[in-house]
Amino acid sequence: MLDGRSSQVILKSPAEIEQMRAAGRLVAETLQELAGMVRPGLRLSALNRHVVEKYGRLGVVPTFVGYHGFPHAICASVNEQIVHGFATDRILEDGDILSIDHGATVDGWVGDSAITVPVGTVSAEAQRLLDVTREALAVGIDTARVGVRKGDIGAAIQAVIESAGYGVVRQYVGHGIGRAMHEPPSMPNYGRPGNGMIMRKGMVVALEPMATIGSPETVELPDGWTVSTKDGKLSAHFEHTMALRDGEPADVLTAWT
Ligand code: MG
Ligand code: MG
Repeated sequence: MLDGRSSQVILKSPAEIEQMRAAGRLVAETLQELAGMVRPGLRLSALNRHVVEKYGRLGVVPTFVGYHGFPHAICASVNEQIVHGFATDRILEDGDILSIDHGATVDGWVGDSAITVPVGTVSAEAQRLLDVTREALAVGIDTARVGVRKGDIGAAIQAVIESAGYGVVRQYVGHGIGRAMHEPPSMPNYGRPGNGMIMRKGMVVALEPMATIGSPETVELPDGWTVSTKDGKLSAHFEHTMALRDGEPADVLTAWT
């Protein structure tokens, strides 16, 4: 998802990044809880309900609800679904993989993160897809430093995914994040080293590689939101929100503790 109306990057001060940490921590904590709930027989709607009830108690805004009309607090995308799936009454089955994407707004700042988790016992092929996509995000995070170019980050993510024989989804990309969930710049999961804008201190971005076992071509389902692989093969998605700082690796605001 990307609005991209403006090309203006909004740099954050150290104090603002500290404020963003609260949203990041809450998103991480909530995703961890949701991952712990996932098992065969669970309805996707139960995951959504957990978030809605928790945030109701906390007085926190689940960022996705109402975002361009999106109806749920999480995106729940099963198997060949890549992103933006609905948290319906669908029942998870042993061997499924489930991508959970989640955002929260705390004191006006947004955190955004996603994981893909196995449901019960999954195939070796599915597990490898999860491992490779998680590794692609880790390499992207390690590459995202002040002074590198945007294309360096995309190329690093792309290399991990493609060297494993998987596809990199092109239509959906990472993004800047702050008081809005989607700010400039877009952060593609592909690119050419040495190309694109130079990453600066105070940039806060969400990197979110989406990898496919088969072709990375996508199709949108009739619900107007859910994005699936065109060939019906499995897809995985991992995402973290991070702040860039001088001389150090990125500060991952949605890191699990
Ligand atoms: Mg997300
Ligand atoms: Mg995102």
